[in-house]
Amino acid sequence: MTTIAVLGGGIGGLAASYYLCKSPQVTKVIVLESSSRFGGWLWSTRRSDGAVFEHGPRGIRPAGAVGHNTLNMVDDLGLGEDILPVSYSHVASKNRYVYVNKQLHRMPSGLSGLLRTVPPFSRPLLLSLALEILVKKGKEDDESIHSFVSRRLGKELADIAVDSLCRGVFAGDCRKLSVRSCFPVLYNAEQRRGSLTLGMLLGSGPTAVSPPGPLAQKSLTESWAQWSLSRGMESLPESISEYLQQSGRVQLHRDAAVQQITPAASGWKINLEDGVISADHIISALPAKALSSVLPPSCQPLIQSLQDISTVTVAVVNLEYEGYILPVAVRTSQTHTPTPTPTHTLDGALQGRL
Ligand SMILES: Cc1cc2nc3c(=O)[nH]c(=O)nc-3n(C[C@H](O)[C@H](O)[C@H](O)COP(=O)(O)OP(=O)(O)OC[C@H]3O[C@@H](n4cnc5c(N)ncnc54)[C@H](O)[C@@H]3O)c2cc1C
Repeated sequence: MTTIAVLGGGIGGLAASYYLCKSPQVTKVIVLESSSRFGGWLWSTRRSDGAVFEHGPRGIRPAGAVGHNTLNMVDDLGLGEDILPVSYSHVASKNRYVYVNKQLHRMPSGLSGLLRTVPPFSRPLLLSLALEILVKKGKEDDESIHSFVSRRLGKELADIAVDSLCRGVFAGDCRKLSVRSCFPVLYNAEQRRGSLTLGMLLGSGPTAVSPPGPLAQKSLTESWAQWSLSRGMESLPESISEYLQQSGRVQLHRDAAVQQITPAASGWKINLEDGVISADHIISALPAKALSSVLPPSCQPLIQSLQDISTVTVAVVNLEYEGYILPVAVRTSQTHTPTPTPTHTLDGALQGRL
């Protein structure tokens, strides 16, 4: 008899419960979510005319073991028919813009984009990649993404492309984020091959492998860059919740804010506003600050480390156009701005029904 409590009913907590529920070693799973809905950041507003507006994520990458696992789960949940794939050759994948010095620049793509000098960059990207092979391996165990890219590919690429990318993907500052944690593939390429370019060409060592199921296989054959869901990303937590409910082994609790967790003689006690729950193990899928406030004092210095993780407010702007009024050439999936640009102009990811 093994009971596992999962704290937080965002996609992290729900996905953990999905896998736990398949394990023969687990008897019961209890999901505790403080709000009145499951899904966390996966939240879609659906209008009666079919328009879907995402409050959070709107595209998931299919690549690698994590990408395959997610698609295998989506297939198992019966959501395969709802998938909206975007291939690498699609105009929305190619058209990425960066806003620098009050101008919108299309990021170079394809071989010709790598060979030419494309503003705002002052030299062809292929030249930066070729020269990178000559750069000596760093001596630090870890460093910021900005310092890593400046050292290997030049400050210009770090200041413009990587800074914007990190703001878009992590809502974070590339001068503070760890390259080892955020981009392990790049870090491993330098460690194993001494160069990112050689790592890209020859592989950067063993990586986690997850066998692709039929849907993940399709994503490889059709060269998907990203995928979304026709009724919005919230379909995913909705389907997982339904699956968990039907399993008969999972208790899903909404409006159940975890207030404190304490170790007990065997397992853990979890204090809620209106009672106490016991579990043999806990999986936390809470945001860092929320976890820090429920841990027992004996968990220092972890509590302090979690509190020190800073966050910023992120806004997603959804634009809706009547009909197809925009020419295909300006369709874009993302527009990013590097740090020096005033943030009130084009911050965050602009998205719409383009
Ligand atoms: C604006 C935005 C756009 C994004 N776009 C993308 C994208 O396009 N592609 C992509 O792959 N990723 C994207 N991401 C990242 C992705 O959305 C997140 O990584 C992911 O949703 C995090 O899921 P989670 O379950 O870890 O956390 P959350 O979604 O934050 O879930 C945590 C849950 O814990 C609950 N909780 C908090 N405190 C307690 C408590 N005390 N007791 C019980 N429950 C509690 C919360 O209510 C919440 O439901 C985006 C993120 C944001 C913010």
